[in-house]
Amino acid sequence: MSTINSFTNLTTADIARAAQMYGTPFYLYDETFIKSRCREFLNMPSAFDFGVRYAVKANPCRSVLKLIAAEGLLFDASSLNEVTRTHLAGIEYEKIMLTSQETYSGDTMQLLQENLLAGLKYNVCSLNQLMQIGDFASANKIDIGLRIHPGIGTGESATRTVGDDYSCFGIHSSDWKQALSYAEEKGLKFRHIHVHIGSGGDMDIWRQSIDIELDIIENHFPHAESLSFGGGLKEARMPDELSANLTELGNYAKDKLTDFYKRTGRKLKSEIEPGSYIVANAGYAVTKVIDMKKTRRASFIILDGGMELNSRPLLYGSKHPFYIVSKDGRALISSEFDNTNHNFKAVVAGKCCESGDCQTLAIDGRAITRTMNRPNIGDFVLIGGVGAYCSSMAPFNYNSHTQAPEVISAGNGDFKLARRRQTIEQLLQNEV
Ligand SMILES: *Cc1c(COP(=O)(O)O)cnc(C)c1O
Repeated sequence: MSTINSFTNLTTADIARAAQMYGTPFYLYDETFIKSRCREFLNMPSAFDFGVRYAVKANPCRSVLKLIAAEGLLFDASSLNEVTRTHLAGIEYEKIMLTSQETYSGDTMQLLQENLLAGLKYNVCSLNQLMQIGDFASANKIDIGLRIHPGIGTGESATRTVGDDYSCFGIHSSDWKQALSYAEEKGLKFRHIHVHIGSGGDMDIWRQSIDIELDIIENHFPHAESLSFGGGLKEARMPDELSANLTELGNYAKDKLTDFYKRTGRKLKSEIEPGSYIVANAGYAVTKVIDMKKTRRASFIILDGGMELNSRPLLYGSKHPFYIVSKDGRALISSEFDNTNHNFKAVVAGKCCESGDCQTLAIDGRAITRTMNRPNIGDFVLIGGVGAYCSSMAPFNYNSHTQAPEVISAGNGDFKLARRRQTIEQLLQNEV
């Protein structure tokens, strides 16, 4: 029996069976893959105390959070709702850190304060956020972390670069003085310094940002006892992409932290905050071919799920691998791993009324073809690499399509439903 690729135990027969059970389209997450990625992070070389914090926004599915919590990871939330969601998955507030663009007042400030008293960790990302929480933190002796704007960034695209001077994340160097004098006035100490420079960018720049962060801590933040390097570790979705090398990055950070200790006598605890690297390649959108068409220029495969499941091609021009499984669960045709003698070129489109609803798009939004074997109507097309920023970022109700279910593959041919398919009634329920 053939597995659909070299990094999963999912077989073609499993796919056809799951499609029978849940109906297409649906997201399928490979539990074994997620666990092994968690362990890879926990085994990274490190100088001193080291923690791994999963970025919830990549994939906040409750079953996924529980799985990752069971591996011993901590959690990074990007909003107060993500804090609530993570806590509702059974995760203690002490394991959650909030690093957000949000500001709070009224009910949301009340909730933030309750969560902080229950152990939530909070990084302020602006002077305004700092001043909103300063008195409360001071009165309750709660340590607040600070996200610095490091002045450099890198990402797979400009839209995912969050550390340079054209992005607004974290407190810029021009405001550190004010943040520090405010903290001093309130008797607060910044014991945790946080940096995150973008998603999936150049790992040379990621290494440089470690140097910069340590330099900033040495020169400006005398009370820092821990730091976060952020996430953004590049995960290859396509065979011609290169993933980050965790051992090499771990060794780099280890050397730098050791040097820092020798220079300053300060043993800094460190954290890393991956999202994509843990879940991206654990996820498949299982879709069915519902139609085939052609124009003078191109052939088209129409799937029953597209941009409303995976908007990354439309947002970023991202490429995802396809795996084609015949409707009876046998033939596997993987366009990416063996494309030597395929001669069919097609645009892979979804069912939305939008020419951008294609899984094969150039960076400028033009539909492009992919070379692959020719599927038949009724066959399954799996879109790979959709475990991160797909379900969580999708415009899922466009064209009034209902949100697709999420299914966990537990490894030995077992499937567990993690989220039901949305119904049309649920789609409409808040309309008055
Ligand atoms: C999004 C985000 C991450 C994770 O980024 P990935 O590219 O998914 O690894 C980590 N930390 C913060 C603060 C983030 O906003």
